[in-house]
Amino acid sequence: MKAIVIGAGISGLSCAYLLKKEGFDVTVLEKETQNGGKIQTIQENGLLIEAGPNGFLYNETTIKFIEQTGFLKNLIKAKQSSNRKFIYDGRLYEIPTKQQKLLIDNFLSIKSKLALLKEPFVKPNPNDETVAEFVTRRLGKEFLDKLIGPMSLGIYAADPYSMSITSNFKRIKEIELKYGSLIKGLVSLMKQKKANTSSASGQFAKELYSFKEGMQSFTDHIAKSVNVLNKQNVVSIEKASKYVVYTNIDRFEADIVVFTAPSFEVAKIIQNLDNKLSKSLVNIPYSPIVLVALAFSKKFANKVVDSYGYLFDLNKIDKTIGVLFDSSIFENRSPEDRFLVRMFLGGALRPSVVQKSNFEILQIALAELQRSAKIFAPFEYYKIIKYTSAIPQYLLNHKEIIKQIQEFESKNTGLYFLGNAFYGVGFNDCISNSYNLIKTIKSI
Ligand SMILES: Cc1cc2nc3c(=O)[nH]c(=O)nc-3n(C[C@H](O)[C@H](O)[C@H](O)COP(=O)(O)OP(=O)(O)OC[C@H]3O[C@@H](n4cnc5c(N)ncnc54)[C@H](O)[C@@H]3O)c2cc1C
Repeated sequence: MKAIVIGAGISGLSCAYLLKKEGFDVTVLEKETQNGGKIQTIQENGLLIEAGPNGFLYNETTIKFIEQTGFLKNLIKAKQSSNRKFIYDGRLYEIPTKQQKLLIDNFLSIKSKLALLKEPFVKPNPNDETVAEFVTRRLGKEFLDKLIGPMSLGIYAADPYSMSITSNFKRIKEIELKYGSLIKGLVSLMKQKKANTSSASGQFAKELYSFKEGMQSFTDHIAKSVNVLNKQNVVSIEKASKYVVYTNIDRFEADIVVFTAPSFEVAKIIQNLDNKLSKSLVNIPYSPIVLVALAFSKKFANKVVDSYGYLFDLNKIDKTIGVLFDSSIFENRSPEDRFLVRMFLGGALRPSVVQKSNFEILQIALAELQRSAKIFAPFEYYKIIKYTSAIPQYLLNHKEIIKQIQEFESKNTGLYFLGNAFYGVGFNDCISNSYNLIKTIKSI
C-alpha cells in the first residue's frame, strides 16, 4: 500500500516512521528544503538556539517513540535550576514548588485566597466556554490574570478571552465535570498519584527533556529513515481509483494520504474535494510570534538568570509574553562564560509586533529585560526569528471543525488529518496523535 504524508514536521515524520514500520511504502512531501517544520535548531557562535520548542515534558508515548527510533542515548534531562519559575507582576515572584505556599505569600489577594475555599461549591458548566470565562467563574479574575492567562500565552501564545477551555485544557474541563470541582479533583488525583509513585510516569511526571544537540537532531534522525522529498509544495489532490497528489513539480499516486501541513495549507489542497471544509480550515487562526535570542557575558548574570524563566501577569504584559533562560535549562546551550536568553514576543494579544523592524524588536526586547529582569548588560549576540503563523488557535468553534473533518474522513476513505492544527499543539501531542492515527488505519 502506498502512503503519502504531506509535511515533514514532527507530526509528518513520526507518522511516516510508524507507517513504514507497518509495511507501508511511504513518501513524505515537504515544501521546504529543510525538514522539522517548527523544530529548527541553530548552532552559531558556540550557542545552541532553538527556533521552536526547546524541550518536552516526560511522556511515556514520546519516550517509547524515541527508543523505537534508536535515539534514546541522545536524550538529556533539564538542569536543576530549571525548576525555578517566575511570574512578573511588577516584581518577579517565584512560583512556589509547594502550591500551599501560594496561600501564605502575598502574590494573591485575600479575595482570591477565599475564592479557592469557595471553589468546591461552584457549579460545573457542562458546556464549552473560553478559558477566561472558565477561570473567572471558578476562581476569579486574579487567577486568570496572574496564573492561567500567562500560562495560556506561554504555552499556546493564545488569547484566554477567545480560546476554548475544552479544546486547549481538556483535562481541566474533564476534572471539573468528573469531580464537580478542580480542588476536589486535584486532591483526589494527588492521592492516587501517591499510591502509584513506583510507576515510571509517577517518578518522572514533571521532568523536562531535550536532546544533546537540540530538538532538530531528533527530526533529522527520523528523516534519515523515511523517504522525504523536499521542495515539493503540495497544491491539490484528486480522487480517482487512487488518490493523486499534485505538487508544484510532480504528481504522486497513493492509497492513503495524511495531511500534516498547517490548516491554511490543507485548506488549499482539499479545496476541490470539499469547499465547505476548506473554508472552515482557513478560519483556524494562527498567532504570530517573534523569537529574540540574546547572549550576554556571564559576569552580568543575576539570580533570576539561574532559572527556567518567567511569564507575565496579564495586567503587566507589554509586548513580551515569555522569557526563557535556555542556558540554565539544558547543558550545552552556551559557552561557560555566557548565558543565553530566548524571549517570545507577540502572540494573540500583541500580534502587530511581528510587523516591526528588527531594530525596533531588539529595542523592545532589551527594554523588557531591563524592566523585568534588571539585566542592563550589553548583548554579545542576537538573533530574531519572525513567525507570522506560529501556533494554531483552538477557539470555541474548534469542536465543530473537528466534527466536519471526521465527516470528510468518513466520506473519503484513506484521507487523514494530523498535525498541530487539530488535536493538540505540543511536541508530545504530535507524536501521540501519530500513534492514534496508525491504530485507526490498522483498524480499517
Ligand atoms: C516558537 C515556538 C515554540 C514552541 N515551543 C514549544 C515547546 O516548548 N514545547 C512543545 O511541546 N511545543 C512547542 N511548540 C509547538 C510545537 O513545536 C509545534 O506544534 C510542532 O512542532 C508542530 O509540528 P507539526 O509537524 O504538526 O507542524 P509543523 O512543524 O508546522 O510542520 C508542518 C510541515 O508542513 C510543511 N508544509 C506546509 N505546507 C506544505 C505544502 N503545501 N506541501 C508540503 N509541505 C508543506 C511545512 O514546511 C512544515 O515542514 C512551539 C512552537 C513554536 C512556533
